[in-house]
Amino acid sequence: MNEKCSKCEKEAVKFVEWKKKYYCKEHFNQYFIGQVRKVFDMYKIPSDKKICVAISGGKDSVSMAYALSKFCKNLEAVHIDLGIGEYSRKSLGITEEICKNLGIKLNVIKLKEIGYTLPGLLQKKKMIPCKICGIVKRYLLNKFAYENNFEILATGQNMNDIAMHAINTIYSSYLIGLKNFKPFLPKDKEKTVALIRPLFFLSEDEIETFLRINGIPYLKEKCPYSEEAFSTKIKETLSILEKEKPGFLRKFVSSLIKLSDLVKIDIKTKSCKKCGFPSLNDVCSFCKIVK
Ligand SMILES: [Zn+2]
Ligand SMILES: [Zn+2]
Repeated sequence: MNEKCSKCEKEAVKFVEWKKKYYCKEHFNQYFIGQVRKVFDMYKIPSDKKICVAISGGKDSVSMAYALSKFCKNLEAVHIDLGIGEYSRKSLGITEEICKNLGIKLNVIKLKEIGYTLPGLLQKKKMIPCKICGIVKRYLLNKFAYENNFEILATGQNMNDIAMHAINTIYSSYLIGLKNFKPFLPKDKEKTVALIRPLFFLSEDEIETFLRINGIPYLKEKCPYSEEAFSTKIKETLSILEKEKPGFLRKFVSSLIKLSDLVKIDIKTKSCKKCGFPSLNDVCSFCKIVK
């Protein structure tokens, strides 16, 4: 890039299109962390809250952990080892390296130690792998954060993921689900913790830039089970729209926040008869999968 930073005299490393600004490394980092802080400011979340950050080792969770470590004072990490052979070993390796670099305590939940592995569950249940994986991860992360007295669980969905999931939610007619498209969801049920999505206002492209210019390692391999062809198509289409109209995704996710406030219906939850955690049915999705 032959341009100069819009804020100083240094060479620019990135053009942030929606802002129409060139940034050098230092100012891009400032912008990136600022977008994460924005979520905390929007919901007036103090930086000393006890936060559990979920790290898989992939680009989103790794960049999230780096950004949070810059201003959160009470941070611990949690990693779920799904038992997917070499892929899981590499994910754990990267996560350990990241936590060591950042000086944050890492907690590892090994699915194997509670008697399961993802490949094993997939053999038993004829479900889409990503769906099973999502249920297992959501359940174990919440359980861990709750049982260890964390106030907030941080997960790394980026702006592109959030927009794609919203389209999928509308497509599947699960409109109540739109209630949850927010950067922060306060604790609203027993045996849960509040949820924060620090990357809500950051795009995949910006996340990749952040990792590249800072030389931060992350797992580049895709999960061997990922096969969500339709979701990938939605994401590709959204990227085309973003190129055509820079700022499109940002407007889209900002509207989702407003839309989520309009969904007024209460989702009635019960306690799972097997484990006692919140569930829409008598037995929760996790207990149904592992039984
Ligand atoms: Zn600069
Ligand atoms: Zn249960």
